[in-house]
Amino acid sequence: MKRKETYIVIIFLCFFGNVHSAAGQTITVVHADGSVRAGLKTTSSLHNLRYLSIQEFTSLFNTPAHYDQQQRKYFFHLNNKKIRLSPFNPFISIEKKIYQLPAETVLISDELYVPAIFFLEIISSEFSDHIVYDRLSDNLLVLSPIYGNTPNIQRVEIEEKTNGTLIKIFTIKDFDESNLSLRARHHWLYLDVYGGKVDSAKTYAEYPAGMVARVVTSQLSNELAQIGFRVRDEIIEKQVYLQSPRLIFLTVKTQKDLSQEIRVNIENEKKKWLIDLIVIDPGHGGKDPGTIGVSGVYEKNIVLPISKYLKEYLETELKINVLMTRETDKFIPLQKRTEFANRHGAKLFLSIHANHNHNRRLRGVSAYFLGLDMTDEAREVARLENSVIKYEEKSKYSEMSWEQYILSAGAQSLYNKESEDLAGMIQENIIQQCKLQDRRVRQANFYVLWGASMPAVLVETAFISNPQDERLLKDRSFQKKIAYSIFLSIKQFKEKYESAF
Ligand SMILES: [Zn+2]
Repeated sequence: MKRKETYIVIIFLCFFGNVHSAAGQTITVVHADGSVRAGLKTTSSLHNLRYLSIQEFTSLFNTPAHYDQQQRKYFFHLNNKKIRLSPFNPFISIEKKIYQLPAETVLISDELYVPAIFFLEIISSEFSDHIVYDRLSDNLLVLSPIYGNTPNIQRVEIEEKTNGTLIKIFTIKDFDESNLSLRARHHWLYLDVYGGKVDSAKTYAEYPAGMVARVVTSQLSNELAQIGFRVRDEIIEKQVYLQSPRLIFLTVKTQKDLSQEIRVNIENEKKKWLIDLIVIDPGHGGKDPGTIGVSGVYEKNIVLPISKYLKEYLETELKINVLMTRETDKFIPLQKRTEFANRHGAKLFLSIHANHNHNRRLRGVSAYFLGLDMTDEAREVARLENSVIKYEEKSKYSEMSWEQYILSAGAQSLYNKESEDLAGMIQENIIQQCKLQDRRVRQANFYVLWGASMPAVLVETAFISNPQDERLLKDRSFQKKIAYSIFLSIKQFKEKYESAF
């Protein structure tokens, strides 16, 4: 008999001493949909009671327990009811009701432990619509969503954009992308938010117009909120991401948005061909005179007035903005000329020159676009025009590798067809208007056309090396005629390309 008593005492001490570590059974938590997602670990303790940590319990419902230092009480919320407990005290208060546990709570390393079974039975009686503890099976049934405090998903905003719909979801809890999952089914888009809490009544919304017809939220379980969007059109593309930890963005595209996007692309393509800004490049200038005529006239001094007349025609007749690479007798490196046009987003680039040949009998006009030199004449003209680089302090062309050349010319090759087209129009109009000899449209490797991101043409108006041509070139009315012919060509080009859309 005495031996038996000692045995009981030892067991008693054993429980008491091992309150931290002796593992009790785990209470199975079963959700209404039959899923078992978490268990509650209990600890064997004094009086052979299983103890449950309040932290363990509240984490099941995503509602943190706090410690009120002044009142020396622990508290947490369930369905907006405040539950309060004190260390080493058998009383629990739920709102204004007081319940008594068969034993005191225990405090271990700042964690409050309560007698598990009795605690769960009190909670079950208070929240019987939501929670039922079944002593026989040792299961805690969560019948319907129950949440700790205020919903953490607060507000949904919908913005219709030209290329789709942007849905903004504002939260008061930090989420990360692993908490979010998005799927589309039939005419519904569902966003699952793990750790999300919603107030279905508050977030329900209907929209008379737009992609989203209504928003329906539901608390699927204590850990899972779902936001459903009823959409009016079939969803083609969808994406979810966090704009910030408390702002979820959904982007949605429907068939309608895609057709809209195509329309916008066409609009942009149209804008690309809207000839509203032209750069005119009067060749040479400053320390570079260009070629020198039979009577000693400089190319730079002839191409500048032609360019100015052209600018005037374009501005007054077509209301097009015109910029010039130079308006005075100023030296400008070749590369800077197309850079200037690119920087201003010019839609056409025109470089105006006068031709020169050691054969003084050669006359006539030739419009050039960038390409492989196909004839000796074209090669010779390009060599002459490119020789300008001897005036440039540090020329990039001499050091340029073949690959770099391909890259620079690449921008221009995109507009090869249009450049050729414009060159053809210029050639034809000058021959008709100015009665100049036709030296044909040609391709040549002009450095000044490299890198132009728009159709670009270089016009060799007439031969400064031929006495008759030179006389014409010096004549103001002829200069105007040349300018007018180029203006007519640009007008023609503009009409053709702008009406193509
Ligand atoms: Zn020139």
